[in-house]
Amino acid sequence: MMAGAPLSRFRYFTQRRDYLKWMHEPDCQTARRAVELPLTQALERGSSPQFFCQAHQGIGRLVHSQSALTPSGYYWRESGACDDCGAITRIRLAAEWFHRAAANTAEPRVYLTEQLTPLYRVLRRSFPNIVGSEFTPSLLEQAKASAKLMAYLLDPTAMIRHEDVCKLSFPDQSFDLLGSFDVLEHVPDYTKALGEFHRVLRDGGQVLLTAPFLNASPTTLVRARIEGGNLVHIEPPEYHGNPTIPGDGVLCFYHFGWELLDALRKAGFRSVAMLDAWGEETALFGDQNAIVATR
Ligand SMILES: [Zn+2]
Repeated sequence: MMAGAPLSRFRYFTQRRDYLKWMHEPDCQTARRAVELPLTQALERGSSPQFFCQAHQGIGRLVHSQSALTPSGYYWRESGACDDCGAITRIRLAAEWFHRAAANTAEPRVYLTEQLTPLYRVLRRSFPNIVGSEFTPSLLEQAKASAKLMAYLLDPTAMIRHEDVCKLSFPDQSFDLLGSFDVLEHVPDYTKALGEFHRVLRDGGQVLLTAPFLNASPTTLVRARIEGGNLVHIEPPEYHGNPTIPGDGVLCFYHFGWELLDALRKAGFRSVAMLDAWGEETALFGDQNAIVATR
C-alpha cells in the first residue's frame, strides 16, 4: 500500500444490536449525509471531485452515474466510479481492505472467487500472486470465458480457472487472504463453502465476504432450496448476472441475516465481524459493509 495514502474509517461489529445502534446514530447518519449531499449535487451538475482511489492507489476523479439516482437517495454501492481505473464504491472498499490486510505480509497469496471482473483486474496489479477463479464446469464455457479474459486483461496468457467453492482444488492453508463477493447466495450448501474458505486459509489468514444481507435480521431468508435433488422455490425466484455467460441468470438462494456470522464461527473462524466503512478522502460513501473473518 502507498505510504501516507488516505484511509477510510473501518469499524467492526460482532453483534447485530451494536451495528444497528451505530447505523442510527447521528455521528454516523447525520455526519455522513452532510458530506455526501453537496457532493452528489455537485456530481449531478457535472463536476468530478478528486479523491484518493484505493483501487489503483492514486488520485482519481468521481464519475456520476445516472443509475445512482434512486428515490431513496444516491446509490453509492454500484456507482461512484473512479475515472482512472473504473472502480466503483464496493470494489474500492474491497481493494482497500486487501491493501490494508496485506500490509504486513510479504508477497501475500490472495484468492478471489472471481476472475472476469474489475476487482480481479485491479488487484492483480498489486498482488502478483493472486489466484482468481470462476464457476465454469463446462469446458466449452471455460474456453469462451478464457477468450474474454485474454481480451479483458490484454494478456494472451490469461486463462479462466474453474473452481467449485464447495470443493476447492487448493491444498490446505494455501492463502493469506481470500475474497468472495456476491457468490455465496448462489451456493445451496453455503456452509460447505465456508468450510473450504477456512481450510485453504493459513492460520491468521483473513476472508472478506459480501452477499445480499438483511442487516436488521438475525436469521437468513431462504429463497429456494434443493430437496431430494429437486429445486424448490420458497420466494419468487431472483436471478443475478453471470460474469462468464452474458444474459445468463444465476438463482439466488439466500438473503443472509446475522446467522451468516455464526456460520463462519461454526466453520472454525475465530474472529468474525461486520465491517462498516466510510471515508471522505477515499470517497467511500453510503453505508458500505462487508463481513470479515480471521482463521
Ligand atoms: Zn481508481
